[in-house]
Amino acid sequence: MNIDYLIIGQGISGTLLSRSLIKEGKKVIVIDDGDSSSSSKVASGVINPVTGKRLVKTWMIDQFLPFAWNAYREIEDEFSISLITKCNILDFHLTKDAAQLFNERPEIEKEYLHKADNEDNWTEYFRFNYGIGEIDPCFLVNIRVMLGNWRAYLAESNSLLQNKFSLDDCTITEHHVSYKNISAKKLIFCDGAVCSDNPYFNRLPWSKDKGEVLIASIPGLPANNIYKQGINIVPWQGDLFWIGATHDWKFTAMQPSASFLKQTEDHLNYWLKLPYTIIDHLVAARPANVERRPFVGLHPIMPSVGIFNGMGTKGCSVAPYFAHRFAKHLAHNSPLMPEVDIKRFTKILSR
Ligand SMILES: Cc1cc2nc3c(=O)[nH]c(=O)nc-3n(C[C@H](O)[C@H](O)[C@H](O)COP(=O)(O)OP(=O)(O)OC[C@H]3O[C@@H](n4cnc5c(N)ncnc54)[C@H](O)[C@@H]3O)c2cc1C
Repeated sequence: MNIDYLIIGQGISGTLLSRSLIKEGKKVIVIDDGDSSSSSKVASGVINPVTGKRLVKTWMIDQFLPFAWNAYREIEDEFSISLITKCNILDFHLTKDAAQLFNERPEIEKEYLHKADNEDNWTEYFRFNYGIGEIDPCFLVNIRVMLGNWRAYLAESNSLLQNKFSLDDCTITEHHVSYKNISAKKLIFCDGAVCSDNPYFNRLPWSKDKGEVLIASIPGLPANNIYKQGINIVPWQGDLFWIGATHDWKFTAMQPSASFLKQTEDHLNYWLKLPYTIIDHLVAARPANVERRPFVGLHPIMPSVGIFNGMGTKGCSVAPYFAHRFAKHLAHNSPLMPEVDIKRFTKILSR
């Protein structure tokens, strides 16, 4: 079978890139092993326009936000599903200093940071001493619904192989890739954090980041806000909430840890006044890198092999924009932004 692109992985990256390429009229096959602990399946799906303790606007958010909104709305229309909702983050300041920092920022980041109205309404749900800031607007993307619908579409159009891909089954030349009975012009890796072991891309400056999360039922907690106090409580499904997450760049095992469970329970027992029941403990590795910029493009020495990866903590906002740009690059040779183009690593990838 002759195709244009063989894509490995159907997380956010593989989903959005395959969709953009199909929109360009390209013939695509996606291989995905259905791993339930992929980063995309464990992520909460928040698009937060301000970031870090210092609450600064995230990189290129003014370009990414409208683009992501339109892309998710388009997918909603195509599949008659609900994917993206506008919401806010209620930031329950943990300390006096944190409250002061937040309250000083609105002068600079007026667009997104506000003082929460009606703080008293939240005293029946949470214990807090230093007030509440509000980050608004934020967005919540239901990634699992998007992945499920796109997977079904790929399967129906005979464009999905549900198995584990191995480079051992491939023959790769500069202009051609063959894999079993498939003959492709290009092989593109959208395989998340495992790509750091890929012989074509293992020299990129990966900095994989393990994240742990609890899923808990919290009956009675309004599901139209994200709640933050060190950890985030994010609406997940019905009365289930996603609670997390950790960042661990030095992990040696992907198992859930007893220490995270205990720490999070201790924090919830102090902060949350409502009863809760933990029903799951999830863990995944974010495909992060030292530069905090995606890896996009074709290998400088082996141009039949490409990568769309390195989304780090921000796949929901970053992937829609760069999937579109990369598809345009592949189909029409339009330029890639130098900050994301893997050509910036030509020297180390040529060794
Ligand atoms: C705890 C946590 C919370 C997060 N919260 C957010 C958030 O709120 N907002 C946000 O924007 N981002 C968040 N992220 C980051 C986000 O999850 C990532 O940026 C994004 O999901 C990466 O998507 P991806 O498609 O590149 O990789 P992945 O989601 O890892 O997808 C890779 C896919 O490739 C498949 N695969 C891998 N190897 C093979 C193989 N050999 N054969 C076949 N298939 C293969 C895997 O099964 C998987 O389906 C979070 C991440 C974590 C871990």
